[in-house]
Amino acid sequence: MYYNNSTVLFLDGEWKKAKDSQTNLYSQTLHYGAGVFEGIRSYKTDSGTQIFKAKEHYERLHYSAEKMHINLRYSVTELTELTYQLLEKNKLDNAYIRPLIYLGENMQLQPTDSVHVMLCAWEWGRFLGDSPLKLMTSSFQRPNPKSCFVEAKVTGHYTNSILATTEAKQKGFDEALLLDMNGNVAEGPGANFFFEKNEKLYTAPLGNILAGITRQTIFELAKEMGIEVIEKFFTPEEVYKADGAFFTGTATEVAAIGSLDKHKFNLPWEETVGYELAAAYQNRVQKNEYKRFELV
Ligand code: PMP
Repeated sequence: MYYNNSTVLFLDGEWKKAKDSQTNLYSQTLHYGAGVFEGIRSYKTDSGTQIFKAKEHYERLHYSAEKMHINLRYSVTELTELTYQLLEKNKLDNAYIRPLIYLGENMQLQPTDSVHVMLCAWEWGRFLGDSPLKLMTSSFQRPNPKSCFVEAKVTGHYTNSILATTEAKQKGFDEALLLDMNGNVAEGPGANFFFEKNEKLYTAPLGNILAGITRQTIFELAKEMGIEVIEKFFTPEEVYKADGAFFTGTATEVAAIGSLDKHKFNLPWEETVGYELAAAYQNRVQKNEYKRFELV
């Protein structure tokens, strides 16, 4: 699904066939989850393939690496250029791009200088599909920000996400909604959460969530469209009375949510501001506003 016989990836300065690429089984990332990564999308636009917000994604990758004491030797500009080459080599335009920074052999609980840089890409439909999602409040909380850097995109953090999604699916829901350590709504396993009441949007403030790049794009679009967005703490009970809700994320884009814990929202998705924002988001990503060489 992610690669075929001709797929090429970037690994430590070389272009390699995905099927022939290997990794060290003593990797610290494999054993302890100490790696950092990104999820980026490129879109076919009128002026060719454009990576959406490449700078923001690679700056976050650098932030994540720094927090995990990982020395990432490629600059934001270099990583962006390499990603365009990756897309060209694989003849991809609408693609999902996965940069992974993983570590070499090290069984100590200390940083290592052995740092590997891998970039790969594949075609990927919208991560959470297209029909309104049935959510459940997860029994798992998001990681406490005193236990890790929640704003860093660290491979090991996703064990929490896997547990939450699996629990939701096993109970017949489509996806989970996770609370923070104080019982307020934080985010989804791989997406930020917004709900809508009387044409105003509400979302959790930064602190216990990943600072989503799509979340930021929604702020920008809402401002342009005159929609108020309020960052505040709220409980699942407040969400039960919502007019609508949606998830945002690079892979997810803007995904409609129909209910939380079987409490159906008041409006059909098509009548919500979330629906308008989902359409505006598609326009934004397909517009030629993030020019390839206007990086710094
Ligand atoms: N929260 C989590 C836990 C995520 O994994 C993601 C996906 N990266 C997001 C939020 C959304 O972030 P972005 O919009 O930057 O993709």
